[in-house]
Amino acid sequence: MSSRPDLAATIGHTPLLRLRHASALTGCEVLAKAELMNPGGSIKDRTALGLLLDAERRGLIRAGGFIVEGTAGNTGIGLGLLGASLGYRTVIFMPETQSREKIDALRITGAEVRLVPAVPYKDPNHYAHQARAHAEALNESDAGSAWFANQFDNTANRDFHEATTGVEIWEQTEGHIDGFVCASGTGGTLAGVGRALKARNPGVRIALADPTGSALANYVNTGELVASGNSISEGIGSSRVTANFDGAPIDLAWSIPDDESIPLSHQLLHEEGWCVGGSSGVNVAGAIRLARALGPGHTVVTILCDAGTRYQAKLFNPGFLREKNIPVPPWLDQAFPG
Ligand code: PMP
Repeated sequence: MSSRPDLAATIGHTPLLRLRHASALTGCEVLAKAELMNPGGSIKDRTALGLLLDAERRGLIRAGGFIVEGTAGNTGIGLGLLGASLGYRTVIFMPETQSREKIDALRITGAEVRLVPAVPYKDPNHYAHQARAHAEALNESDAGSAWFANQFDNTANRDFHEATTGVEIWEQTEGHIDGFVCASGTGGTLAGVGRALKARNPGVRIALADPTGSALANYVNTGELVASGNSISEGIGSSRVTANFDGAPIDLAWSIPDDESIPLSHQLLHEEGWCVGGSSGVNVAGAIRLARALGPGHTVVTILCDAGTRYQAKLFNPGFLREKNIPVPPWLDQAFPG
């Protein structure tokens, strides 16, 4: 008999897929980690587990205590499910602009969800600051009752990706990898995978695929945190350098507009059967750019972060897409006539 003892034991070890269209287009092997196959449906299950294991190891969370976090949604879903599995209570602060599907998915994990206005990081009402303040308030009334996960600046996030996601990619490619590219939200995935790969082969190129509206591509290319434009993608992009992103070994960076990335999410579903979200489209766009920069015959790896069903009402809504000047494929119009 082969079985796993609990939810945590099912996180990670995701398949590495060959992306047919991106490979044919570039003459490269374009591969992607299917992180949407994690039990909570996203790459952020790893982050949630990595942060929680670190907190348990360091005695920062007690049995039955509160996990408190600020998140665009996916980390909260991972923490909520792990909380259910391990007996913690989870409180999540989340910007109210996030997709209804993610908010609902979070609520049904049993997490307490507090929706807050989407404001810049420098505003004390930013969801991350509210989460930290809530954990502090809980600890004031009952010392040691709450742990603030702090995914953006707690480098246990990056370290877990270095030890798992990065090592898995190295092993699955048997070291035949020339480049890795993905977007950055906390920076945990990019920095962790980048460090794991560079440690094994310093020649592997690491690239950032940044959505328009984020300042990170400019930061890598010019040293200045300047952003322009916007994006319907969720969970990626940043106006600041987080502790996880800081010092990530990045060789190349691009700012990628929605009219380049979203059609790739649509195409991946329609032609290859993978229903992925907007950040995965940005990643595939980055993989195509990196493959072109390296030239034919190279192997490039990226991430499929979560499923498109998590953004159904935006990503597969012809009216919404037209409002945002994003191309609508004919099959999508046919699926939702009128
Ligand atoms: N894609 C999605 C859908 C996400 O929710 C996130 C994390 N917020 C990312 C990508 C980025 O991952 P990381 O935080 O490791 O940079």
